[in-house]
Amino acid sequence: MAGVQDRVIAVTGAGGGLGREYALLLARSGAKVVVNDLGGARDGSGSGTTMADAVVTEITEAGGQAVANYDSVASEEGGASVVRAAFDAFGRIDGVVSNAGILRDVAFHKMTAEQWDAVLQVHLHGTYHVVRAAWPHFREQGHGRVVVATSNTGLYGNFGQANYGAAKLGMVGLINTLAIEGRKYNILANAVAPQAATRMTEDVAPAELLAKLPAAHVAPVVGHLLTDECADSGTVVVVGGGLCTRVQLFESTGVTFAEVPTIEQVGERWAEIVDMNGAVPAINRVG
Ligand code: NAD
Repeated sequence: MAGVQDRVIAVTGAGGGLGREYALLLARSGAKVVVNDLGGARDGSGSGTTMADAVVTEITEAGGQAVANYDSVASEEGGASVVRAAFDAFGRIDGVVSNAGILRDVAFHKMTAEQWDAVLQVHLHGTYHVVRAAWPHFREQGHGRVVVATSNTGLYGNFGQANYGAAKLGMVGLINTLAIEGRKYNILANAVAPQAATRMTEDVAPAELLAKLPAAHVAPVVGHLLTDECADSGTVVVVGGGLCTRVQLFESTGVTFAEVPTIEQVGERWAEIVDMNGAVPAINRVG
């Protein structure tokens, strides 16, 4: 196979926003798509079938192949259901785009355990549930593609989004290990940090900025990461408004103490420890 032709790809949260763009482009490019969406509100409340159905109709009317799935990814059963839908309709699963997401924004000092949990459940646990259900099939067939939606909030932080940021950087931690465990089975795991005008961002960024960030710009990058030809794994790409960049950890040259230093000695050398001049891509020395 080449590109995403005939590949069976499940896109979670594909009933609107970015996920819908991914599903439409993948289907136009020859993939068979599971359009998963709970069909609820931005905060995750409610549910319905119309969002996923509308995207499936759009795809099939254009001559593409797609099937709807309405289950929440926030449970083990929901994750299994997404993968089962791929098998029921198309007999296999080749890729997962973990894109479903909700927001429960509030300053950290007011954040309840319920608000923390709800966001972690959809983004981080939801990614686990769907990818975990697909993983044995990926290993068995010696092919699999995972793309997760991370966020600048995970990479840099954002006021009111402690729950969301923790979930989003957790997803990068997940793909780092999936890239290691998947490599010998031709399973690649990567992340995109999109920047796009959707219902999620409608009141987060100014309208003039959002006008320059159509969701369609993000989809081809997600598409590339799902192709047979893609060789990257463990890569984080920031994509929005035509700009595509890679974000990677760098490490300072730092300081080596020959003896266990005192707190004061650490303080004296602090400027050297944190100086990023001459920093190099970070590597894992210890495990
Ligand atoms: P969106 O609200 O339009 O799309 C999210 C979709 O996920 C919705 O259709 C929603 O119904 C669905 N969903 C929510 N909970 C679900 C669940 N439990 N199970 C299945 N589906 C569920 O927002 P979007 O902007 O398109 O966001 C898509 C992804 O990209 C999210 O993970 C978001 O965090 C991430 N992201 C978006 C931006 C951006 O600029 N839009 C920036 C950074 C990250």
